[in-house]
Amino acid sequence: MSTFELLHTDSRSAARRGCLKTAHGEVETPAFMPVGTAGAVKGITPQQLRETGAGIVLANTYHLLLRPGVDVVEGLGGLHKFMAWDGPILTDSGGYQVFSLSQLTKIDDDGVEFASHIDGAKVYLDAETATGIQNRLGADIIMCLDECAAFGAGEAQLKTAAERTVRWAKRCKEAHANPDQSLFAIVQGGTEKALRAYCAGELVKLDFDGYAIGGLSVGEGHDNMLKTVTHTTQLLPEDKPRYLMGVGMPGDIIAAVRAGIDMFDCVLPTRNGRNAFAFTENGPLRLRNNAHIGASEPIEAGCDCYCCTNFSRGAVRHFFNSGEMLGAILLSVHNLRFYQRLMAKIRQALETNEFSDWADKQLKMIIDY
Ligand SMILES: [Zn+2]
Repeated sequence: MSTFELLHTDSRSAARRGCLKTAHGEVETPAFMPVGTAGAVKGITPQQLRETGAGIVLANTYHLLLRPGVDVVEGLGGLHKFMAWDGPILTDSGGYQVFSLSQLTKIDDDGVEFASHIDGAKVYLDAETATGIQNRLGADIIMCLDECAAFGAGEAQLKTAAERTVRWAKRCKEAHANPDQSLFAIVQGGTEKALRAYCAGELVKLDFDGYAIGGLSVGEGHDNMLKTVTHTTQLLPEDKPRYLMGVGMPGDIIAAVRAGIDMFDCVLPTRNGRNAFAFTENGPLRLRNNAHIGASEPIEAGCDCYCCTNFSRGAVRHFFNSGEMLGAILLSVHNLRFYQRLMAKIRQALETNEFSDWADKQLKMIIDY
């Protein structure tokens, strides 16, 4: 089981510096978790991932459940061995993908039945099976099954989803059978303050190891996201880690840290990297652009990643334009390193009590992402 140590709280904001201790190592927070969708972070090896500074990785239960299946992962020694990642891992419950990727065939208070997006096979998931599957996969942190209502859902639908999320969280806690793992609950409720308060309140009563905020970054926009996060973090206990799911752009992360978030995950560094989009301190670079044909400078001056210390922008552009895999690999490495450098700067600014001024300056600069 993991424990969370709150090391420092910012005097001028809700930002926190902490350390999450798990059986597979410690995670310095605020932390960014790269997404290893089906047991692999797309485009790079675990060794390269380690070199980007990642301390914890996320894997999607939904994808692993459909392919190769829990029996195979378990038979091959569990998720850490399967992924060749000996550091901390978090698995989500599969709920988000069930609601966003698959064809739902039935949903009620018991659980969800859906058709696999791969072959249409019918799969059933409820609180007990989602927890049992994660118990067997063996990640250090596992998530309760939740219902994530679609963006634009009406109040009645959001209310049903939030109430179901609470009932399912209670069942997940009762079903949780692997004491080595921490179980986090997910607060739902869209951008409705009263629903977030209800959901957070009920979940906190059940006393989980950590709390996630779900159902955001689905189209509500930065300001609404931030309002909801600011409102919700105030309802969560100080001494437990807080995880904002699926967020986000660098500006979203800085603003959410200021609102009291400790953990993040997002596919943007790798997805954008595969699409020739590089994050840099000076704004985004689109490497397919002709302006980079003969450019000798690195993607980002001063970046210590393998891409920036060995390749010019012109070479990276050429790899993309000639269909070489190396382009996508190099930009995935750079973007993941960019995110880890961002988190390290956030942690350092918190340690030296400079976070608020630093965050104000950064958020003014970030306009174009
Ligand atoms: Zn770099």
